[in-house]
Amino acid sequence: MSEHESMNRREFFQKSVYKAGSVALTGGVLGAAIHNSHAEPPATPVAPPQPPAEMPAVKHRRLGRTGIEISEIAAPGDSLRDPLMFSLAVKAGVNYFHKADGSLSNPRNRELITKERDRFYLDVVIDALEEDRAYEEFERRRQKTGCDYIDFFKVHSTWNSVEDFQTKRGVLAAYDRLKKEKKVRWLALSKHNPRTNEVLTAALESDLFDAIQPAVSQIGEFQKLLALAKKKDCGVICMKTGAAGVGKKPELAKFGDPEQPYRTYFRYLLSLDGVTSVVSNFKNFEQMRENLGASGVPMSKTEVEAITLALLNAPRNYRDCITCGECRAACPGGLAVDEIMRYRMYAEDYGDYHAARQQYADLPAAWQELVASGRDIPADACPYGLSVAAELKQAHRWLA
Ligand code: SF4
Repeated sequence: MSEHESMNRREFFQKSVYKAGSVALTGGVLGAAIHNSHAEPPATPVAPPQPPAEMPAVKHRRLGRTGIEISEIAAPGDSLRDPLMFSLAVKAGVNYFHKADGSLSNPRNRELITKERDRFYLDVVIDALEEDRAYEEFERRRQKTGCDYIDFFKVHSTWNSVEDFQTKRGVLAAYDRLKKEKKVRWLALSKHNPRTNEVLTAALESDLFDAIQPAVSQIGEFQKLLALAKKKDCGVICMKTGAAGVGKKPELAKFGDPEQPYRTYFRYLLSLDGVTSVVSNFKNFEQMRENLGASGVPMSKTEVEAITLALLNAPRNYRDCITCGECRAACPGGLAVDEIMRYRMYAEDYGDYHAARQQYADLPAAWQELVASGRDIPADACPYGLSVAAELKQAHRWLA
């Protein structure tokens, strides 16, 4: 792989400009002196930067009962906006875009998708639960994509309990209206934060959803969900996989290239029975190459079992927080530990410092003081064995 490919586009151009500047200095000042004294030709100019080589091609899988074939690696619309990276992903075969209004807010990306709209699958996330607000949110996001229709209306982690799911149904009425208007094709549900597995289980049992997008945390619980999704013929797209890849790096290093934990982790996830696709971050060309390279190389049953065992027995750290929120009741002031752990993940693992710090800054000052000190947080606050006070203090260092 060339040096250029391991940089993101901005770094690439900055480095190119720096090199060009160095060459100008060499050619202009030193070169002039040499030229004057020896009358030799100027130094050979540096070759212009080359575009990155093609990315590994991705395979496709059937997304449950929708019958459509989507790429094993799905793109994150909220962070994949650069037109060069976007076109490389499309060329590699990526055809599913999570939070598509993000990527398609760039006119060049939009043009690429809209000229062959049938080849691609787009989702937008809906945070509102009330009917009119959910309808308006969908329309606002759809219009940003420049498309007449969106493939998936995805309710986004806003049902915090099974009771919420059973009682706050306005968002589903908004979906029904949009479906009648032919502005959307299928219904999906993404879920992180408290009671992920309970809410997704209830959603699968309801048979209302064509695809689910769970945050992958505890692998044992996740496998139970996969079994139910398979029984219901419902597609599963994994999300929040970046932090896990870093957090389990020592374990994953035993099963693949130690420098490519995501590749090993994505290969593992794609080898679990019932998984359709994995949402991947693409921060730079190197990460894109690593993650796309996980497609089409499934692991053997023996390897999957060995990694499952290794992940279950791995030492625990904040990346094992399943953001269940069960520790809130034990913490002073009902501290939203799960939210803070998620913000830490955005900052520490995703490098999204600005957004993570902004979200943290919006929390009550009394909570921030608790997070900084860890004071009065019981040692046994987390039933899964995490040291909540110690992990929160670290979070504060990232977020304050
Ligand atoms: S620290 Fe433990 S109890 Fe609290 S949200 Fe995380 S996993 Fe749940």
